[in-house]
Amino acid sequence: MADIIKLLPDHVANQIAAGEVVQRPASVVKELLENAIDAGATLIKLIIKDGGKALIQVVDNGLGMSETDARLSFERHATSKISNAQDLFNLQTKGFRGEALASIAAIAHVDMQTRSDAFEVGTHIKIEGSKIVFQEVVATPKGTSISVKNLFFNIPARRNFLKSNQVELRHITDEFHRVALVHPNIEFHFYNNGSEIFNLPKAKHRQRISHVFGSKMMDRLVPVNEETEVVKVSGFICKPEFAKKSRGEQFFFANNRFIKSPYLHHAVVAAFEGLIKPDTCPGYFLYLDVDPSSIDINIHPTKTEVKFDDENTMYAIIRSTIKHSLGQFNVAPVLDFEHDPNLNTPYAYKEKGAVLPKVTVDASFNPFQEVEKTSAAHTYQKQSAKGWEKLYDGLDSVNTEDFSSIAIESEGEVQGTFYSDSEENGQTGTTFQLRRKYIVSTIKSGMLVIHQNRAHERILFEKFLGEITVKEGVSQQLLFPLELSFSKQELTILKEINESLINIGFAFEAMEQETVKVTGVPLMVSESAIGTILDHLIADYKEGFEGSSISQAEMLAKALSKNLAVKTGELLNQESQLALVNDLFGCKEPTLSPFQKLTHTIISEGDIEKKFS
Ligand code: ADP
Ligand code: MG
Repeated sequence: MADIIKLLPDHVANQIAAGEVVQRPASVVKELLENAIDAGATLIKLIIKDGGKALIQVVDNGLGMSETDARLSFERHATSKISNAQDLFNLQTKGFRGEALASIAAIAHVDMQTRSDAFEVGTHIKIEGSKIVFQEVVATPKGTSISVKNLFFNIPARRNFLKSNQVELRHITDEFHRVALVHPNIEFHFYNNGSEIFNLPKAKHRQRISHVFGSKMMDRLVPVNEETEVVKVSGFICKPEFAKKSRGEQFFFANNRFIKSPYLHHAVVAAFEGLIKPDTCPGYFLYLDVDPSSIDINIHPTKTEVKFDDENTMYAIIRSTIKHSLGQFNVAPVLDFEHDPNLNTPYAYKEKGAVLPKVTVDASFNPFQEVEKTSAAHTYQKQSAKGWEKLYDGLDSVNTEDFSSIAIESEGEVQGTFYSDSEENGQTGTTFQLRRKYIVSTIKSGMLVIHQNRAHERILFEKFLGEITVKEGVSQQLLFPLELSFSKQELTILKEINESLINIGFAFEAMEQETVKVTGVPLMVSESAIGTILDHLIADYKEGFEGSSISQAEMLAKALSKNLAVKTGELLNQESQLALVNDLFGCKEPTLSPFQKLTHTIISEGDIEKKFS
């Protein structure tokens, strides 16, 4: 057989390498920013158009390049940063693989202008899909400007795989944060579609963090400082009471490089143990300085995963350092995390009566499909009503008047009802609550057991989905508008879901800079809970949206239902129990919660009889 192995042409090899280095526009941003920093820039501008799909440009005032270097920089394995393998163990720069520019140039239209101090004129190179289009002399300021257009122009599959501009922008912003937070001595400007979204002057670490995440951060940060032989830990943690459900304010930097480390993250969380609610995450900005030879950053092309020589020691040091800071700054509050009254939205029937939307919900509603909504909704209502009556056939009809004397708990106080602790006493009507978790009722064929939390999730899910798509939400005007502060990124998400929020009853007066003025809320949401609810929504939305294809409406309806549904452990009065039962069986899909969990079960008379046989 003849020889069949060939060396791949450079442009093919570059394209393959690009697949590893460049996953999305944010990867390009990371590489270009890092190059600018390695070049010693003190001022860096990042310019983005259409989530980076149309343009990513980085302008720096760093060292610049000579004509030869400018040309060489696009060659694979061309780097000025290391010259032998030994250098790998003493890295002082972000880059070292010499792959980024070659990879980017293989899959985009790249335009670079650069000049080093040593020359009067600079170099202008245009390169598309690894092919040099032209190279000429140009008058340009000292430093480098690289613009990357039409990313993945020659790999349609990759281009089509990109998410919406907003989602890509979010990834870019993440990368920008990671770089900006560790280089407070560099001035950054970030423009998106022509408007400046970050203007970060040279500052100290603490100020930089608050410039990035909002001035509210200033009072939240607690300094951390520890120097040991293995590692020097510095930076800040956020006070426990500001722990959030959303991930996003957790940063580890090792030798000035952002790293991901689930293991060390665990060390931080462990230090906060007992101070934060179990499903929340403390914010932290921790800078670790280690001997470059004790860390391997070479194990992943994007260099966010690292390996420390002695991870166990690192873990112990980080944990105790943080514990020490928490103690020293006396920031260990007494938290009652059994119960957060702000999150209680009692399922009060009377109150709900006003909200009860007349319109029924079609969970399978597809805005792109032209169907006659109203007629579909009518049939559905009839069907479900019929089905539900059947369940109760043969039993006395429920007289809700009987319960009118029963106090409905005031908002936020689930405990203060007549039923006090002995919930089973409430069995005056046709339902009772079991272990503050289930609603039990007799039906013709036996016993109906409803999971209160899941059932309510289902009810709310369908309600919100309907409101979002049909825009029927009822809003409750706030007497005094509430001003809440958010980070820029949170604000971006809020803007993304703004319309849906309005549809379900939120009203916002202004969304700018770091503050949002809330002027109205859905009837179900109590004023004191608005901040928490919005925080949770942002977190869930952000998490849910990654890599998922379900619609925004569905995502939001899910998040809302999860956050507002009556919880296990909440006491429900008779009226609320009945309303829950009724509403569940008024749902289009009463069987499963929006998270595909069983909402109820029926234990038949036969089942019960078997137990006695
Ligand atoms: P690496 O950063 O791993 O060396 P790159 O492909 O990112 O590889 O860059 C190749 C080389 O191009 C760098 O080593 C550096 O010498 C030069 N270079 C890239 N960007 C800049 C810049 N903004 N300013 C000055 N030199 C740069
Ligand atoms: Mg580089």
